[in-house]
Amino acid sequence: MLFELNGQKQMLTIDTYKVEQFRDALAEASNITIMAHKHPDGDAVGSALGLALTIEHNKKCKVNIVLPNDAPDTFQFLPAYNRILSADRDKEACEAALMNADMIIGVDFNNAFRVEPLHQALTESKAIKALIDHHELPDEALFSILFSRPDFSSACELVYWVGKALWGDNCLTQDIARCLYTGINTDTGCFAYSNAQPSLYEAVAALMHYDIQPESIYNEINNNFSVDRMRFFGYCINNLLTINEALGYAYFTISLKDYEKFHLSDEDTEGLVNYTLKMKNIHVGALLKEQSDRIRISLRSKRDFDVNQFARTYFEGGGHIKAAGGTSYIGLTYTAHRLDQLLKEALA
Ligand code: 5GP
Ligand code: MN
Repeated sequence: MLFELNGQKQMLTIDTYKVEQFRDALAEASNITIMAHKHPDGDAVGSALGLALTIEHNKKCKVNIVLPNDAPDTFQFLPAYNRILSADRDKEACEAALMNADMIIGVDFNNAFRVEPLHQALTESKAIKALIDHHELPDEALFSILFSRPDFSSACELVYWVGKALWGDNCLTQDIARCLYTGINTDTGCFAYSNAQPSLYEAVAALMHYDIQPESIYNEINNNFSVDRMRFFGYCINNLLTINEALGYAYFTISLKDYEKFHLSDEDTEGLVNYTLKMKNIHVGALLKEQSDRIRISLRSKRDFDVNQFARTYFEGGGHIKAAGGTSYIGLTYTAHRLDQLLKEALA
């Protein structure tokens, strides 16, 4: 298929050789396990469930779906959500699903660090390992079949194109289309981010043939706050946001006590970091949140500042140019101070 990008005709291609490799591996496999990254977002959950359902739709088999953590309740509306095994609830069952599998397919992550505490089972399992992902620098030694495409908006979009290459229009049902649309919606900020290319809209056009009800999916994902969470966001914006308007950055610093005050958990900060970029003169935003043993960092950018590189260099993390994450072990106050210094230097 041809489309135009930066004035040049481009070909959207899914490597045929890899598709055939993947097809052969699927045909041979009798025990398949799909896994996505820890702290799963819409793309992780949507691509894992969508891929499981499309494989089951095209091959007589039952696929296991494992995640390092529970999937947020937000995604409860998705078909097959109840089939997800998580290491939070039953680590042994997740490890068994990985160790007993003859094929493991990773989605929406690029290396074993992103699936702790299941990284050991993933690396030690004798299964044939495939990856369908859109992050840079995949672990090429770990996965023998690799669909690694940072040029795609989301793992969900890539699952659609790989499924389409394998099974044509049979890659979709209404349930599969709803799963894939969910991850596309979250990873593109509902079609607002710069990671969308023409292939995305072609994929979405195909999904739309299955009566997926985009408005209801949008409401499930985005208009679902509890009253406490709404007030918590207000509190964070009023009290926990540092703004450096001259250099164009802002960040939230959220402690365990702050969640407790509102009877919330750290999951409830999902989406908060994006509020930093709502300010006209702010183009780099961050959110630091305290967890029991570490500080998690989310980074966002709306111009050309590469937060993937920044997270990789300073916070043992990574992600994409405009959305990345990382970790720090020096406490909340010191992490905030370090982040502030680093951003001052980088943006001065
Ligand atoms: P979020 O801020 O929403 O947690 O993550 C934004 C993006 O960065 C996602 O694509 C996520 O997969 C990626 N990401 C978040 N944390 C990490 C990390 O610690 N390491 C790497 N490599 N990527 C991360
Ligand atoms: Mn993704």
